[in-house]
Order: sequence, then structure tokens, then C-alpha cells
Amino acid sequence: MHLLNADLHSHSTVSDGTLAPEAVAERAAQGGVQLWALTDHDEVGGQQRARQAALDLGLAWTGGVEVSVSFAGETVHIVGLGIDPADEALRAGLAATRAGRRERARQMAAGLAQAGIGGAFEGALRHAGNPDLVSRTHFARYIVEQGHCAHTHEVFRHYLTEGKPGFVPTQWARLADAVRWIRGAGGVAVIAHPGRYKFTANEEYALFTEFIAHGGTAVEVITGSHGSAEQVRFADAALEFDLYASRGSDFHSPEESRTALGALPSLPGRLKPVWEALAERGRIEGALAPEPSSAGPVAA
Ligand code: AMP
Ligand code: MN
Ligand code: MN
Ligand code: MN
Repeated sequence: MHLLNADLHSHSTVSDGTLAPEAVAERAAQGGVQLWALTDHDEVGGQQRARQAALDLGLAWTGGVEVSVSFAGETVHIVGLGIDPADEALRAGLAATRAGRRERARQMAAGLAQAGIGGAFEGALRHAGNPDLVSRTHFARYIVEQGHCAHTHEVFRHYLTEGKPGFVPTQWARLADAVRWIRGAGGVAVIAHPGRYKFTANEEYALFTEFIAHGGTAVEVITGSHGSAEQVRFADAALEFDLYASRGSDFHSPEESRTALGALPSLPGRLKPVWEALAERGRIEGALAPEPSSAGPVAA
């Protein structure tokens, strides 16, 4: 199962991606993906479209979401896989997590106006496919469009990260709640792109141990955000903490994303793929392609 081309982290216009769920599914199929999840930020509004598109294309599908969490003064992302998008408690939790985004966007626009960038609230909203989900990415696209920066990465560096004029500290969901909503919806919780957090060793240890104590299941090892050193580091962490391992591009846009859907390195053979946990729980819809060899179940 290690060689299965699973891509379990991607975004559509339902959050801060630039393609509709159906178009992301098509790219996944073109990229050779065999098992796909759309994981929009704090929102499951695209899941039925994603499911239908995947099954029409012969792609195995599982429900997905990426929940914004505040932990130790940082924003941490927890991906939920295998979730039932109709689950009421999950939907209510996500709605509460999204609720502050409008006001945050107004405050971001006020900060940007002081830095000489006007019209950012309306501008970001124009880029947002979902008015309930205005994200920093939409501001970044507006600021590039207005010619203030050449790339969205540059916008983040100059305007949208801590200490910069468009940054507004935000209280997201609690780690315990995010994991509880995901599990309650039949899913498994995954620490997204751990290499991106600016944690001390102690804080990182606390994140992993508290995540596990709350019932978390997996960690992303192979992601578009990890270089080879981080792939090794978090493969070791998966073993140390006895977590399943996940793989996902974090695809947002053909123009902006470094990693295409399905184009990541495969999961190291020493790890337990999170799709085994999903299969055991019956959370995968559509047929998984047969394994390349006749290898049996992978030993833990
Ligand atoms: P938000 O949830 O509104 O804080 O926006 C977070 C999103 O911004 C992430 O999911 C990424 O898509 C994007 N993002 C964060 N940091 C960067 C960066 N340095 N360069 C480009 N995009 C980024
Ligand atoms: Mn994003
Ligand atoms: Mn993320
Ligand atoms: Mn993401």
C-alpha cells in the first residue's frame, strides 16, 4: 500500500484554491492519483461535488477538511480524513471556526490601508470563491494583482505574517475540539505540514503528545511544504510517536503551487500509510487500484 498514489491534501475555490472541486479532481486523475481528498480550510461545502467528480473519474475518494487551530501561540492545521461531511457537530464546529474571518479581513484591510494598499477588503472578497472564507491567500492575490508584489510568497513575507501590517492575530479552534469534531464525524485527524511551524523542540513535542492524547491518528510526512530533510525528520517522528503517515500536495493553484497533484515522492516503506487506517474504518469510496506487487499487509 506504500506505493499507492494517494494525494490527501488539496484546496478548491470553496476555500483558497483557484480551481473548482471538479477541476481539482480532474488534475488529480491526470496526475495519476488513485486516492484523493479535497481538504478545504474550515469548510466541507465542496465535498459532495468532489466525491461525485472523483467517482465519475474512477478515483477513489475520502472526505476531507483542514481545520485551523491555535496551539502555543501559533496557527496549526489539522487535516481530517474519512470524515462524513454531513456530520452536524463537525459542521457546527467549522462554522464557529470560520465565523471570525469577515471581521479579521476588515482589520487586515485597515492595516494594509495604513501601509498604502487601499481597497483590500473588497479586493480580497472579489478573489474569494466563498464569501464565508476570506483567507490571507485572497489578500495576497489582490496585492499581486495591484502590482505591489510579484508573487504571493513575497506578499506573505512583506505584509501578511506576524509583525507585518496586514497580520491580525486570530483565535482559531482548540486542538482538542478539532480532533473531537473529526473523530465524531467518523474521520481520522492528521497533523498537517509539521515542518512549517516555528515551534521550539518542547512545543513540538507538546503538539504531538497532546494531539495523540486527544485521539489524533496521523502526521503528514510527504507534503508539498517539506523538503527532504523534513521528510526524514517527520518520518522518524511518525515512528517515535506510533502515528500513521500521510501524503498530500497541498495543491492550491496551477500558477502558485510548487507541487502538482500526485507528483510527490512515495511514502517511506517503514511507515504505516494513513489510507490503511481509512480502509480499516471503511472510509474510502470507490475502488483502490491493486497494489503494484503481491505484497501482503504491511507490518507496523
Ligand atoms: P489563513 O487561514 O487566512 O490564515 O490563510 C492561510 C493560508 O495562507 C495557507 O493555507 C496557505 O494557503 C497560505 N499561506 C500561508 N503562508 C504562506 C506563504 N508564506 N506563502 C504563500 N502562501 C501562504
Ligand atoms: Mn491555503
Ligand atoms: Mn495548511
Ligand atoms: Mn492546505
